[in-house]
Amino acid sequence: SSLFAGVALAPRDPILGLNEAFNADTRPTKVNLGVGVYFDENGKLPLLAAVKEAEKARLAAQPPRGYQPIEGNGAYNQAVQKLLFGADSELLAAGRVVTAQALGGTGALKIGADFLKGLNADAKVYISDPSWENHRALFEAAGFTVENYPYYDSATRGVDFAAMKACLAGLSAGSVIVLHACCHNPTGADLTDAQWGEVVEVCRERALVPFLDMAYQGFAEGISEDAVAVRLFSASGLQFFVSSSFSKSFSMYGERVGALSIVTADRDESARVLSQVKRVIRTNYSNPPIHGAAVVGAVLASSELRAMWEEELSGMRLRIRAMREGLVGALKEKGVAQDFSFVTAQRGMFSYTGLTAAQVDVLRGEFGIYAVSTGRICLAALNEGNLGYVADAIASVVK
Ligand code: PMP
Repeated sequence: SSLFAGVALAPRDPILGLNEAFNADTRPTKVNLGVGVYFDENGKLPLLAAVKEAEKARLAAQPPRGYQPIEGNGAYNQAVQKLLFGADSELLAAGRVVTAQALGGTGALKIGADFLKGLNADAKVYISDPSWENHRALFEAAGFTVENYPYYDSATRGVDFAAMKACLAGLSAGSVIVLHACCHNPTGADLTDAQWGEVVEVCRERALVPFLDMAYQGFAEGISEDAVAVRLFSASGLQFFVSSSFSKSFSMYGERVGALSIVTADRDESARVLSQVKRVIRTNYSNPPIHGAAVVGAVLASSELRAMWEEELSGMRLRIRAMREGLVGALKEKGVAQDFSFVTAQRGMFSYTGLTAAQVDVLRGEFGIYAVSTGRICLAALNEGNLGYVADAIASVVK
């Protein structure tokens, strides 16, 4: 019989499955609120002007396509470090940060996970309840047991910080704690600065290993404002990991532009850690692709293009915020009794709306509005053209 006769069909990705159903829907009024992608006011995936400029220059220069170093583009890696840790970071000056270009935020998490497995094979990994679905699968694939720490409280629609902190305080030394640095996916509920300070202290007291996942820098308040967790951990003197991604902030999803940064105790440790990270990369895919990191690096290195990018990034941030306010206002106007103002307090691309799976089914069946069954919607899929329609539909299912 065939080698593959016994291969079971893997469950399909719930969100990609939603996209397939959306694409097959022939209703012209259909709206896809399921995806985790930023669309502009015309419902289009933007190609940023700063990216276009940098690509024009690259095309004209016709650079050769040799292999990159295993850890990727050096200028890009340094630019990543400055965005995360701040241009005047003492850690950077002291050589305490190791950064490697990675295949998006996912690739950074995977390199980090493989390196951690070599460091402490018995450690358990803790992710928020709920979290981005791939966190669990990715760390399990790296050989770890993955558990949840309490996070979202559906009663307050915020973070149950007391429960989260109590859980972390009871974990054994060396446990890996995956934290969403800002714009929590899927809930949109973030920690306050003061709560971040408390998380840093628990990590210190219990000797936990913090792994910050920064997929949405610039989507909450601003580039440096959104790095508050990274800055607080930096000031703590602890060792920690940061995975970061330009998928969203540069709208470069398919180019796979991310990085893994690891904060060490000193320059000598950095050299040894980098050598091991390079070994992980070498045995996985040898070295990363050139184009995306070159473009992001060029934008960040040019004051003109960087200013252009920052303007475009704040445009995306402000448009999402306007859609949050627009949705809350429209629901109120339509006489919905339930207070939806929590939607404006949530940050980033997503909202946990509190819509039930049954309500989500009705939205889809009756209105062609696609959301995740958990009630997660992507605010960046709303625009002036569909906001009223979506608000009407939500009003009719919650009334
Ligand atoms: N972490 C979180 C929390 C995310 O939401 C995402 C993207 N949806 C990623 C990591 C992965 O990002 P990338 O597409 O750059 O791999």
